[in-house]
Amino acid sequence: MSKIFCIANQKGGVGKTTTTVNLAAGLAQLGQRVLVVDLDPQGNATTGSGVDKRSLTLSVYDVLIESASVAEARVASPRGGFDVLGANRELAGAEVELVGLERREKRLKLALAALGDEYDFVLIDCPPSLSLLTLNGLCSAHGVVVPMQCEYFALEGLSDLVNTIKRVHANLNPDLQIIGLLRVMFDTRITLQQQVSEQLKSHFGDKVFNTVIPRNVRLAEAPSYGLPGVVFDPSSKGAQAFVAFAGEMIERMRSMPA
Ligand code: ADP
Ligand code: MG
Repeated sequence: MSKIFCIANQKGGVGKTTTTVNLAAGLAQLGQRVLVVDLDPQGNATTGSGVDKRSLTLSVYDVLIESASVAEARVASPRGGFDVLGANRELAGAEVELVGLERREKRLKLALAALGDEYDFVLIDCPPSLSLLTLNGLCSAHGVVVPMQCEYFALEGLSDLVNTIKRVHANLNPDLQIIGLLRVMFDTRITLQQQVSEQLKSHFGDKVFNTVIPRNVRLAEAPSYGLPGVVFDPSSKGAQAFVAFAGEMIERMRSMPA
């Protein structure tokens, strides 16, 4: 069966989309079959995968309102080596429409179940909120990957997310667990980041991934070329870190219950 992971953090600009797209490309390079689900109306994971969000005829929106299947709505990332269930502004309206529908938080889960084991990994890029869209992501997933910057307020923000995950685990999805915290945009020269990194490790232990993603401008440049950083500049430090992270995810998946 596919392993389904949410890339989530209710803060914006922490590296969720960069993590989703580059982990997908890294996993693909390691021979994994990957689907990226863009659950953010900004559609950055769609664009960053090289897919024009304005020209999508079907998107994750159509899947959530059950007017299309995932198999109908997905497209291939031209250079990433993975598939994309894309998003655009239309998805912003789904939030309101879903409220009145039955099984409103389980729509994505049901749609993904129809794929069987076509993919090894499904990676869901969540919006920066704890909305009904994010809830659909969390209800679908086996685990959550939390990208975070090692800054002063990082730990504080984390407690809201941890509480949400606990509630979803208790009420909606008993499979859900935090797979790990990924330190991103890391700069070893900044003492505060090293201190926060140590705090994270003492607080969360082996829930902190070994791989650290450095701050690397090539990762920031890649989306404007419609490429994951891993494909745009494979020799860059950022790309190499994401391929290493993909390897670590495969390892962790092996040790997860089936
Ligand atoms: P989110 O999806 O959480 O809002 P993004 O992945 O869009 O965050 O990242 C926010 C910004 O930071 C983007 O401009 C992105 O290109 C940049 N960025 C993300 N990770 C890195 C990194 N490791 N090094 C440099 N820039 C990064
Ligand atoms: Mg994003």
